[in-house]
Amino acid sequence: MLRSIIRSSSLNSTSLFFRFCRQLPRSYLSRSSSTTAGVALRRLSSPAVTERRLFLHRGLRLLSAASGGLNGQFSRLSNRSVATQAAASYSGGIIGTSQDEAWKLGFEKMSEQFISECKSKAVLFKHKKTGCEVMSVSNDDENKVFGVVFRTPPKDSTGIPHILEHSVLCGSRKYPLKEPFVELLKGSLHTFLNAFTYPDRTCYPVASTNTKDFHNLIDVYLDAVFFPKCVDDIHTFQQEGWHYELNDPSEDISYKGVVFNEMKGVYSQPDNILGRITQQALCPENTYGVDSGGDPKDIPKLTFKEFKEFHRQYYHPSNARIWFYGDDDPIHRLRVLSEYLDMFDASPARDSSKVEPQKLFSGPRRIVEKYPAGGDGDLKKKHMVCLNWLLSDKPLDLQTQLALEFLDHLMLGTPASPLRKILLESGLGEALVNSGVEDELLQPQFSVGLKGVYDENVQKVEELIMNTLRKLADEGFDTDAVEASMNTIEFSLRENNTGSSPRGLSLMLQSVAKWIYDMDPFEPLKYEEPLKSLKARIAEEGSKAVFSPLIEKFILNNPHCVTIEMRPDPEKASQEEVEEKNILEKVKASMTEEDLAELARATEELRLKQETPDPPEALKCVPSLNLSDIPKETTYIPTEVGDINGVKVLRHDLFTNDILYAEVVFDMGAVNHELLSLLPLFCQSLLEMGTQDLTFVQLNQLIGRKTGGISVYPLTSSVWGRDDPCSKIIVRGKSMVGRAEDLFNLMNCVLQEVRFTDQQRFKQFVSQSRARMENRLRGSGQGIAAARMDAMLNVAGWMSEQMSGLSYLEFLHTLEQKVDQDWEGISSSLEEIRKSLLSRNGCIVNMTADGNSLTSTEKYVGKFLDLLPEKLSGGLVTWDSRLPLRNEAIVIPTQVNYVGKAGNIYDSGYELDGSSYVISKHIGNTWLWDRVRVSGGAYGGFCDFDSHSGVFSFLSYRDPNLLKTLDIYDGTGDFLRGLDVDEDTLTKAIIGTIGDIDSYQLPDAKGYSSLLRHLLNVTDEERQIRREEILSTSLKDFKEFAEAIDSVRDRGVAVAVASQEDIDAANKERSNFFDVKKAL
Ligand SMILES: [Zn+2]
Repeated sequence: MLRSIIRSSSLNSTSLFFRFCRQLPRSYLSRSSSTTAGVALRRLSSPAVTERRLFLHRGLRLLSAASGGLNGQFSRLSNRSVATQAAASYSGGIIGTSQDEAWKLGFEKMSEQFISECKSKAVLFKHKKTGCEVMSVSNDDENKVFGVVFRTPPKDSTGIPHILEHSVLCGSRKYPLKEPFVELLKGSLHTFLNAFTYPDRTCYPVASTNTKDFHNLIDVYLDAVFFPKCVDDIHTFQQEGWHYELNDPSEDISYKGVVFNEMKGVYSQPDNILGRITQQALCPENTYGVDSGGDPKDIPKLTFKEFKEFHRQYYHPSNARIWFYGDDDPIHRLRVLSEYLDMFDASPARDSSKVEPQKLFSGPRRIVEKYPAGGDGDLKKKHMVCLNWLLSDKPLDLQTQLALEFLDHLMLGTPASPLRKILLESGLGEALVNSGVEDELLQPQFSVGLKGVYDENVQKVEELIMNTLRKLADEGFDTDAVEASMNTIEFSLRENNTGSSPRGLSLMLQSVAKWIYDMDPFEPLKYEEPLKSLKARIAEEGSKAVFSPLIEKFILNNPHCVTIEMRPDPEKASQEEVEEKNILEKVKASMTEEDLAELARATEELRLKQETPDPPEALKCVPSLNLSDIPKETTYIPTEVGDINGVKVLRHDLFTNDILYAEVVFDMGAVNHELLSLLPLFCQSLLEMGTQDLTFVQLNQLIGRKTGGISVYPLTSSVWGRDDPCSKIIVRGKSMVGRAEDLFNLMNCVLQEVRFTDQQRFKQFVSQSRARMENRLRGSGQGIAAARMDAMLNVAGWMSEQMSGLSYLEFLHTLEQKVDQDWEGISSSLEEIRKSLLSRNGCIVNMTADGNSLTSTEKYVGKFLDLLPEKLSGGLVTWDSRLPLRNEAIVIPTQVNYVGKAGNIYDSGYELDGSSYVISKHIGNTWLWDRVRVSGGAYGGFCDFDSHSGVFSFLSYRDPNLLKTLDIYDGTGDFLRGLDVDEDTLTKAIIGTIGDIDSYQLPDAKGYSSLLRHLLNVTDEERQIRREEILSTSLKDFKEFAEAIDSVRDRGVAVAVASQEDIDAANKERSNFFDVKKAL
């Protein structure tokens, strides 16, 4: 139940698969909201600090991955209660009189409860004919959520559930077009739209604030899951799953398929490989012993027949659980459902899909595996070691689960948590891997481990983990630490920070995590009572009496323990490629000439089908809104600009349920160029180094006890119409209004009193950051490529790349040596940065809360500002650096590539117009989706227009191709010129764009967006103009935009993050097109 607030888990990154990678091209740890002017705004934050925040929002990390990168985790807050003033008095719903109606519609009411934690009325129904269970949650939240979930335990690693998850959204009975899903992406106001596969279940959620739109989305999803075309059409299976591709009988055969390549990407990341091995090693005998996502080696074993049979068996109402949430009519929900469910009879699927528990081992096990590593660097230091326990042979009761999650937070949740701290301070490894309690599956598990370990230290790590756990069981936890964890957890529960993903979805996933195992779906929503009794127990018996027995029972005395050691293998990547090649050669050798001709014909047939657009009549069948349903006026955020003691203060009077959100902004304009790359570590040091009077542990606990958290990070962006970039350091904090004084005192303490004297801690920051950057290079190469291109094209991009791109990684390598040789120098550089940042001059304060609270906190802001130096010590510097323009290929050990190309279209004379948002979205959802993903086989293909700088960029994600993808980008201008867009398509594109701009925001996100607009000079008048331009976009705009896009083809730069083999091949084919750079 506290999943949403306690640390990240392996599940999210390793065994959860999304239909659609919605990562914004440059959303690598971006922090800003995507709605500055309807303009995607994305710049870096300090990764270190971001991670710290992330730990508090585990369940949500999974959501954020789906809904637009990791932007603004800190900003994704609201109260768990539906955050409107009316909420408390809400009393609508289905109870009483409408019960007869439910019965008439075919549903029996099983249970009904008022959930005070989310101020909702929840009713559990059973569909009488099929046994399908329905949770109908009613409240006044306008962000409505619908979801259907099937239990889909796989028996092998061919990836059936995952391929099916992709495939059912490729056309259905009522919506017989290629991809209704993409039509919804293009032209609906959805606030969430995706699908995901767990190890044992598949979820199909949608959300919208517009009721008509919501009903459209539900109908398309229901028709898709129950009546998909993919079970009659092998082409979808081939496209989304796998197929042999042969363009010409004289060429080699290759494997293609969206999921196939998606999983190759997953299997290229060491952390993911470890997560998968962990799950399989802990549960070798049940469904968790195989990979629901699909192992690229096994995917080609899957037959179309097995695929169809899996759908027939499990995608049945008797095996479904359906969720509704929000302010829509509860009877209408049942009416819609009955139309679908009544068409089925009961099936035994519910029994056959039961997940069997794994029996506990009688003794510990040990597994040693290899993972693909680059040939460079010190391979001896690249081992990973992780200890894992399956905690119980059955699901735990909620009390115990809550206590375990609390324990998890105490041991690992913050940099000050003892297990985390001791492991990182030991110097035995660079960073934690896959550590924490995982309780979203049938049986909970706990893992803790390190990566970047010397081979001779592997055993020492194991001993250190066991000894530390022993010590924690014997000695218990510090009272301050317990209090800090308690406050952090309570604060997060109160806030229920779901960021840009709907609250109703977060609740659904929590409920389903028990419901899916036939347990009570209401219970996970009710945290108040178990939390109260846990608190009472801690108060009465002391924390040791509560937590020590848990460590003893579930970890120290638990025989079901698996130790996993991963060794780096520089040969593995190429070995796997050779193996795949051999298999394909054998396949080819076994084919007759006729077979080969037939395969080439089938390849061509599939491609033709993929590239032929749906006829306009077919497209029309997907329901859509009209332009008249769209508000003409842009949305305004209440903003009052004033000042306190001569410093500019922005106030946003919004209902926040008694929480104050505050940002203090400092200008980077006086920071010495040479120190730029130190800034992220400077920010981390502020929060994690301690002061004269407080150790970092004490400071951290103080922040945990008194506030909802403080973070510090850099933000840079180009500003439209200006040469000099916006470059700031932002300090963000939140607390209960009654604790505002503490919040500002602590902000002051962090900024002014922290001492940069702890060499050993700084050394850890450096190696953790390096490990994180290396991970990002493998997992989000598109972000690295985008940053690189941006750095060639504008100053803000250059600054950002110095703090989060490949240049930053190179800087960290050098810095690692320097910490030992010249710590004095680094320490005084950190001090110098502080001196060139802190000043009342150029400082801006941004505050979000209700009016009275804003007024009552003013005096603390004033005091905080008085303590700042008035003037800077140095003068302003001009930022004007860029990386040299060149095509660049960055080599990493990978089975899939990330390919980018970008250019500044303002340089070609293009003038900003709102239609550019519509066009760029259209290019992404049609041309790139069809060519890069559908027929190219990449998991994702995007484009992005940064209207602040003028940079238009193309990017691909987990891409089997390289030059071919660049050719597709270069064809975009011709695609636009040849477009024949009818009224309907245009309307959809416009509505979809407005949907992005008007995306749902919780109060703190509104306040933050307003601050960003202020910093980037985006006025409400300008936003209104852009909105009108968007609404009046015409075909002519598309044609004109083609000219601008041609300039990217002709003068743009290309950057690819790719394998050595593919880069060599590309340079051979196009005489040294790329300058090659080795990175891992
Ligand atoms: Zn997928």
